[in-house]
Amino acid sequence: MINKLCIIGVGLIGGSLSRALRKQGYCKHVTGCSRDASHLQRAVELGVIDDYDTDITKAVQGADMIVVAVPLGAMQAVFTAMRPALAEHVVITDVGSSKASVVEAAKAGLVERYQDFVPGHPIAGTEKSGVEASFSELFLQRKVILTPIAETRPEAVEAVRTMWQTAGAEVVALEVSHHDDVLAATSHLPHVLAFTLVESMAQMGDRDEIFQYAAGGFRDFTRIASSDPVMWADICLANHDALLAAVTGFQADLDKLHSAIERGDRQALMDLFTRAKQARDRYAEGQTEQ
Ligand code: NAP
Repeated sequence: MINKLCIIGVGLIGGSLSRALRKQGYCKHVTGCSRDASHLQRAVELGVIDDYDTDITKAVQGADMIVVAVPLGAMQAVFTAMRPALAEHVVITDVGSSKASVVEAAKAGLVERYQDFVPGHPIAGTEKSGVEASFSELFLQRKVILTPIAETRPEAVEAVRTMWQTAGAEVVALEVSHHDDVLAATSHLPHVLAFTLVESMAQMGDRDEIFQYAAGGFRDFTRIASSDPVMWADICLANHDALLAAVTGFQADLDKLHSAIERGDRQALMDLFTRAKQARDRYAEGQTEQ
C-alpha cells in the first residue's frame, strides 16, 4: 500500500498507472505534477489524481513513491529539481523507453539519493498522448522491465515490483544495455520505420491520391507513426548507439531485398517471405496464448 504516490508527468503512461493503482485501492493519495496546470486540473476532473502542484519540490513532499513519467529529455531536470525535497523513506522510479540515458540522468540529478531509484519501463502503450488517453487496463498482462544497478536498494526494487504487479503487469529484470539493445530492435526500429515510410509516401507525387488508395496494410504498418514526435525524437537520441546498430542491420537486409527484386530472384524472395511469415505467425500464436 502506498500512502502518497507522486506522479510526475500525468500523461498516457503516468495517468494509466495512477488509474490502475487507484482501481486496486493501492494508494491513499495521488499527487500529480507537470508543467501545465490545466493538464493537471483535467486529470483531477477525470479522477486520475487527487490534487497537483506544478512545483516539483512541493509535489514530492512526503511521498513514499515517486513515478517519473515525462519525456526522456526532461528526466534529468526533474531528478535534479526533486532531490532537495525527497522524504527519507522514498522510492523513485521512472517509465522511460530507454534505460542507459535515464540511469545517467538519475545519477547526475539524484546524487546520494540514487540508491533509492529503480529504473523501469512498461512494455505497453498506444500512439496517443496525454491524460485523456490514459486507461486503467493498459498494463494488464503486459511486461514491465526493471533494470536495477549495483547501487539500487533491494527493498526499493521490491516496492516497484509490487506496484507494477498490482497494476496487473508481469515484472522482469534485465541489464541496462541489454534492455536498450532489445528495445532498439523490437520497438524503436519499427517506430522509426513507420515514421519514415509515411514521410516517404507523403513526398511522392500527388500526396492526396497516394493516401486515398492506401489500403489496410498501410494502416496496420503505420499506426505507430501517429505517436508523439517529442517522445520519439528523445528516444532516438537517448538510445542512439543501439538504434543506429539496428538501423544499419535493417539497411543491409533492405539492400538484400532490393537486389533480389532487381535480379528477379523469385527463390530469394520466397525464402525471405517464408522465414518472415513463420516468425510472425509464431509471435502471433504466442500473443493469443497469453
Ligand atoms: P505523454 O502522454 O505525452 O505524457 C507526458 C507527460 O509529461 C505530460 O503529462 C506532460 O505534461 C509531462 N511533461 C512533459 N515535459 C515535462 C517536464 N519538463 N516537466 C514535467 N512534466 C513534463 O507521454 P507518455 O506516452 O505518457 O510518455 C511518458 C514516458 O513514458 C516517456 O518517457 C516515454 O518514453 C515512456 N513510455 C511511453 C510509452 C508509450 O507508448 N507512449 C510506452 C512506454 C514508456 P505537461 O505538458 O503538463 O508538462
